[in-house]
Amino acid sequence: MRDTSKHQGLRNQLANVLQAKGIDDEKVLKAVRKIPRHLFIDSSFESHAYQDKAFPIAAGQTISQPYTVAFQSQTLALKNGEKVLEIGTGSGYQTAVLLELKTEVYSIERQRELFKKTSLFLPKLGYNPKKFIFGDGYKGLPEQAPFDKIIVTAGAPIVPKPLLAQLKVGGRLLIPVGDKTQIMTLFIRTSEKEFEKHELGDFAFVPMLEERN
Ligand code: SAH
Repeated sequence: MRDTSKHQGLRNQLANVLQAKGIDDEKVLKAVRKIPRHLFIDSSFESHAYQDKAFPIAAGQTISQPYTVAFQSQTLALKNGEKVLEIGTGSGYQTAVLLELKTEVYSIERQRELFKKTSLFLPKLGYNPKKFIFGDGYKGLPEQAPFDKIIVTAGAPIVPKPLLAQLKVGGRLLIPVGDKTQIMTLFIRTSEKEFEKHELGDFAFVPMLEERN
């Protein structure tokens, strides 16, 4: 695994591109400057790793576009030590950003190949979530609930009720909702029974699939 000053230069440029697109959370930009994204994707795409683009990873999935990762990370308004549930570990790049923001991360992935690959790879870079889980994110993670923040990184045809139920009061669920394209949707739990809903624009994700698929 190699990380050179050339890669560092490209990361700095990527952070500038994201800033120009409206990312202004300095902690998120710092994470983008630090994490070696080229090591998260197939080496044949290495030269493109610091473009603001999504790329194929294993099992027909994609590593999300850096802007999307930065936007989701910023919108979660993460504080040190918060307990975060991530659904869709994928390449682990978003997981690494969450860990750079000093949160406690539980990350679920339903593709066994990706689960295995990423749970071996991230610790090698020094990124250690509380737990990698192989399973179906539609159910959330009731045994570890409640969470301060829940982030879904696959396009969900519906908002899974268990995810809303597993939020602390004051907590946030950020989930792209829709079939072909998705509306980034933020739910803030304002009381035991009430949620505020904010729609934050159009995005495109691979689908959130159910366990049986
Ligand atoms: N954040 C990841 C995004 C990967 S794409 C990255 O940037 O690399 C979305 C991921 O969600 C895929 O890995 C897919 O397998 C996973 N996924 C889809 N449906 C899921 C479900 N029901 N539970 C858990 N993971 C799911």
